[in-house]
Amino acid sequence: MDIKFIKRDQLKEKPDETKLGFGKYFTDYMFVMDYDEAQGWHDAVIMPYGPIPMDPSTVVLHYAQETFEGLKAYRRADGKIQLFRPEMNARRMMRSNERLCMAVFPEEMFVEAVKALVKVESDWVPSQPDTSLYIRPFEFATESTLGVHQAKAYKFVIILSPVGAYYEEGLDPVKIMVEDEYVRAVKGGTGFAKCGGNYAGSIIGQVKAEKAGCAQVLWLDGEQRKYVEEVGSMNIMFKIDGEIYTAPIEGTVLPGVTRDSIIHILKDWGYKVNETRLSIDELMQAGREGRLEEVFGTGTAAVISPVGGLVYKEEELTVNDFKIGELTQKLYDCLTGIQWGKLEDKYGWTTVVE
Ligand SMILES: *Cc1c(COP(=O)(O)O)cnc(C)c1O
Repeated sequence: MDIKFIKRDQLKEKPDETKLGFGKYFTDYMFVMDYDEAQGWHDAVIMPYGPIPMDPSTVVLHYAQETFEGLKAYRRADGKIQLFRPEMNARRMMRSNERLCMAVFPEEMFVEAVKALVKVESDWVPSQPDTSLYIRPFEFATESTLGVHQAKAYKFVIILSPVGAYYEEGLDPVKIMVEDEYVRAVKGGTGFAKCGGNYAGSIIGQVKAEKAGCAQVLWLDGEQRKYVEEVGSMNIMFKIDGEIYTAPIEGTVLPGVTRDSIIHILKDWGYKVNETRLSIDELMQAGREGRLEEVFGTGTAAVISPVGGLVYKEEELTVNDFKIGELTQKLYDCLTGIQWGKLEDKYGWTTVVE
């Protein structure tokens, strides 16, 4: 792929690495590539980060043909920069685009574009503990028309943001609320696709959870509101009687890269991982009987997020005395150890960029 480079006159000042937060700062450059029917994907460019001019009738603004990804570049102790399983994100975006009838951005081009941009912006990869460079590729329909149909033109963009820990509280357990009114996904819908539209419809659950003093919302399945599926923007896992339970990938749950990696590690450690439907009633019962040992969310942004409390209807359950579980902590240390290059990567998950 031929990538043009448009230099900016003045580089931005880098933020304080100890106060990064999440998604607040953006780097100097972005990657942009266009698609139309006649030329396919063309005009790859790394250009100054800035506004994207759009016609008011641009399809994405009306019918939400938009997909995105999220991955990170990590600074190792030896100064090198590495990515974690970027091909998984590339393939997932292809499936998201297929579901939304959008032009598919090929896997090799995705990985190449991510590497090229991270290389240009290598000075932006922070080195303080728990910091990384968050990579946000996204694609949207750019055609201008109010007719509802599969758009004929798209833009693929990558922006970068240096980030600290996702939650200011760090690895402290959070309380989550089980949502039994609104749903996030149904079979046949877009639950498995990483698209903005899924989020638009789910923010109401997040708002409700926050009003109830909870940090996140735990979604139940869309048909019966009976089986646990995901928490906010993460997959979720439960340790009950020494075994791990997580929702199966059957169309409604996002196939998380973190989820997949954690399952690999757990199996390697000899744990039984049940990718099966777990009903909220069974879960609450296990909690009441003291058999629910640990609960945690998994996702690129927060890596692992321990859950200390579950609120469902009138009931509130405490998990592991609201402390991070032993296995949760071990998994966090192992996965972040591989991601930051502190532990040997025996799974071959990391790719050095520079
Ligand atoms: C991105 C995302 C996840 C986590 O996926 P990772 O690849 O682990 O970051 C889980 N659920 C939803 C709804 C998501 O959008």
